[in-house]
Amino acid sequence: MFSESGFSESSVSIVGAGPTGLTLAIELQRRGVPHRIFEASPGPFAGSRGKGLQPRTLEVLDDLGVLDRFLAHGCDYPAMLAHLPDGRTQEWRMGELHPPTPEVPHPNTLMVPQWRTGQLLLERLTELGGRVEFGAAVTGLDNTTITLSTGEQVHADYVVGCDGGRSTIRKLLGATFEGETHDVERMLIADVRLEGLDREHWHIWPATPGLRLGLCPLPGTDDYQLTAPGATLDELESLLPPGVELTHVGWTSEYRASSRMVSRFRHGDVFLAGDAAHVHPPTGGQGLNTGIQDAYNLGWKLATGDSALLDTYDAERLPVAAAVLGISTRLLRTPSVDRDDPALRQLTLSYRDGPLAGPTLPGPVQSGDRAPDAPCGSLRLFDAFRGPHETLLAFDVPDSALPADTRELHVRRIVRPGAPSGPRALVDLAGHAHRAYGADDPALIHIRPDGYVRSITRPDLQTAHHGRAPWVMTRTAGGSARPSAG
Ligand SMILES: Cc1cc2nc3c(=O)[nH]c(=O)nc-3n(C[C@H](O)[C@H](O)[C@H](O)COP(=O)(O)OP(=O)(O)OC[C@H]3O[C@@H](n4cnc5c(N)ncnc54)[C@H](O)[C@@H]3O)c2cc1C
Repeated sequence: MFSESGFSESSVSIVGAGPTGLTLAIELQRRGVPHRIFEASPGPFAGSRGKGLQPRTLEVLDDLGVLDRFLAHGCDYPAMLAHLPDGRTQEWRMGELHPPTPEVPHPNTLMVPQWRTGQLLLERLTELGGRVEFGAAVTGLDNTTITLSTGEQVHADYVVGCDGGRSTIRKLLGATFEGETHDVERMLIADVRLEGLDREHWHIWPATPGLRLGLCPLPGTDDYQLTAPGATLDELESLLPPGVELTHVGWTSEYRASSRMVSRFRHGDVFLAGDAAHVHPPTGGQGLNTGIQDAYNLGWKLATGDSALLDTYDAERLPVAAAVLGISTRLLRTPSVDRDDPALRQLTLSYRDGPLAGPTLPGPVQSGDRAPDAPCGSLRLFDAFRGPHETLLAFDVPDSALPADTRELHVRRIVRPGAPSGPRALVDLAGHAHRAYGADDPALIHIRPDGYVRSITRPDLQTAHHGRAPWVMTRTAGGSARPSAG
């Protein structure tokens, strides 16, 4: 769209179509927010790079309506098989496989090569009517006007730099990127095809100390992801043990792990997300997941255009990125750290201490926490949450006692078997929903569009923010934004 000034216009310019930018584009597209997404590369990314999707990311993908495709193309992490110098082998698991529970339907990390993640997100964006402008590198930034390599200038209300660890937007903003590059941790990573190895294990050849070579079979392909610390591409073939024959080399990268992050994600109406804002060592498989969740946090806030609400992106995501960076770096330095730490699965991540956490009540779930799933008859709570809306869960509250003005909130009454139901009722047959939310007494639980709890109140004390959730913000004396009770 071109304005009279000769600039083309969009409401949001997204720079970079990696997992972060694509997630943000889907979030905006499904809310009808005009945007353009610019990608410097001529086509989609081809490498397996970030291959671990954490349980919380799987829940985000469920909300975006694309989880089934990921499950069809991915698999659980295989057992590790160490090939020891004396010819013996030793098998173990990097982390236990957890059984699904009513609250956590997808408890394990799903292995999906990053190129497939990009492909499936792009497919979802396309079917929603969006598109990526490939071969369009952003070279300049003046407030919220960007310049493309084609010479075109695009004015937008907001710019989001999702342009990876070497982010042009971050550099053009002059934002600092504090941290360190781990010189000792140079790594060759390559997608290869081989003969002579089974595909049931992630094979490793240990060195003292650490690892000489790793070969991980990638689901849905004939490829293995090869990782070799300290090696170069020239050495690739010589790294392979006797009996293993290289038949094809695809994407390759010589990579150095870094731990760095910016001190602010918001710079006026320009935002940074994903690797552009924080880069992690690959240990623990956190980087791509944190980027997707940055975009998921920012998307619905951008759609409101509420500046005080947009401030909460920084307030909520900066501490998360810092914590995740700490975990990945600790794992890099101390490989014996527990890889089954629930924090790695990103399910314990909470915005409890953030500016949007509203009134709450004592119980297993507090305002700011992830809203757990639960089966309710033939439906699940995640079915009720799926989509861009907010949800009001009314536990044992009759229709007549619901807040009068719930406007665009999706209201779901959660009732016990035998209680009067109705069209908006979900029958909690086995009591899982009541248990998960600690709803022994009637309660109103307001769920944000991104699946975190906004408020928990009693129906007779309606201090919560029901209605269409205008997300009106007020400033506290300390300067942090808090939602008003409007
Ligand atoms: C060896 C390795 C293993 C990893 N393993 C995992 C893992 O298991 N789990 C995990 O979560 N993460 C993992 N990661 C990290 C993960 O790959 C990244 O965190 C992830 O790619 C970040 O996504 P992003 O969209 O923020 O950035 P990117 O994927 O880097 O995407 C940025 C995009 O912006 C484009 N771009 C750059 N500059 C411009 C410009 N000026 N204009 C327009 N477009 C531009 C780029 O071409 C690119 O497509 C791993 C990384 C490595 C290297």
